Amino acid sequence: MALYVLKFGGTSVGSIDRIRNVARRVLRVQAEGHRVVVIVSAMSGETNRLLSLAREVTPVPAAREMDAIAATGEQVAAALTALAIQNEGGRARSLLGHQVRIQTDGAFTKARIKAIDGSKIFSTVDAGEIAVVAGFQGVDEHGDITTLGRGGSDTTAVAVAAAIGADACEIFTDVDGVYTTDPNICPSARKIDRISYEEMLELASLGAKVLQIRSVEIAMKYSVPLHVRSSFNDSEGTWVVAEESALEKVVVAGVAYDKGEVRVHLVAVDDRPGVSARIFEMLAEKNISVDMIIQNVTTGVEPHADVTFTMAKTDLERARPYLDEVARASGAREVRVDEGITKVSIVGLGMRSHAGVAAKMFRILADQGINIQAISTSEIKLSCLVASKYTEQAVRALHEGFGLSKERT
Ligand code: ASP
Ligand code: MG
Repeated sequence: MALYVLKFGGTSVGSIDRIRNVARRVLRVQAEGHRVVVIVSAMSGETNRLLSLAREVTPVPAAREMDAIAATGEQVAAALTALAIQNEGGRARSLLGHQVRIQTDGAFTKARIKAIDGSKIFSTVDAGEIAVVAGFQGVDEHGDITTLGRGGSDTTAVAVAAAIGADACEIFTDVDGVYTTDPNICPSARKIDRISYEEMLELASLGAKVLQIRSVEIAMKYSVPLHVRSSFNDSEGTWVVAEESALEKVVVAGVAYDKGEVRVHLVAVDDRPGVSARIFEMLAEKNISVDMIIQNVTTGVEPHADVTFTMAKTDLERARPYLDEVARASGAREVRVDEGITKVSIVGLGMRSHAGVAAKMFRILADQGINIQAISTSEIKLSCLVASKYTEQAVRALHEGFGLSKERT
């Protein structure tokens, strides 16, 4: 008798019909002799609708109330799912974050889970009921309702699975699994059967939006086997597992792209010690995180340096006034902001042991006539910044060039 955590995303519970499908599916798993915990997201579109109601009342709603409002989406979905299971003749009970005691810190709208008390879940499943837990929400030490950030139900699912020692956590979604790249822009993208936590973490943080990043971190930390699969068919999806069991030994596992960054260029800053420190301290003070950084020095009559970095598009409006301050403090002649950039990346454990992967990536882009504006590397990832108009072309060329379009043997 296994213990499973089955998570259904917004589209999977997007209508009453679909909720009935979820009910039948989880009852089938239970009928095979397993204990079942279900985690649900809000019905698709609901969280956006709730948050925009709050913004209709006031342009900058208090985060505490935003969470109180947003959490209702999952409350409704959990209770509807429990009812649907009962309607099919099964036994189920909905449980909210505070009822399961999903303890979080007090960072409203982006809370982190500190502890989960498994006893309520165990008493439910041990009594033969299906526990239907509302995703995305928790409770802080003052008893206030918190939420885990957009996409946070994935994190609820994995954290619950870790807390109760589940045999697996299955994420049911509207795609068949994790793909070698975005199938919408690259028709030869293929579903990956098994991938390591490390690679999934990189792909997730690079903009492959199947899983909330935090959920992969927790799965890796507690070795929770994760299965990303479709809620609309019975096919196997993608297993996210420890490196040893990620059988597909390929140099590059996937190609990702991220259009969510902008490039900021500080033209001709002073070339002396402490200038970079000052620039990035000023940004850090305002909580603006930067990603890629390049600095090049020009030698000449008046030596100066150019500093370029990327940051999240969503921070740009907030950052604009400080960018001018940063420019002044660093002696920059000018600040240029380019919103038309995309970061394309390749990810793979095999990069650790293969030489020449970077050279090959640059060659592939060069052959397409695509200029690289910045480069960053990590142990298992290589990223290049290119003009946005080349996104599709770059992704397709890299996918093809690294052999991902071919069937694996
Ligand atoms: N409903 C929440 C959201 O849309 C959480 C989730 O779906 O995972 O972000
Ligand atoms: Mg999601």
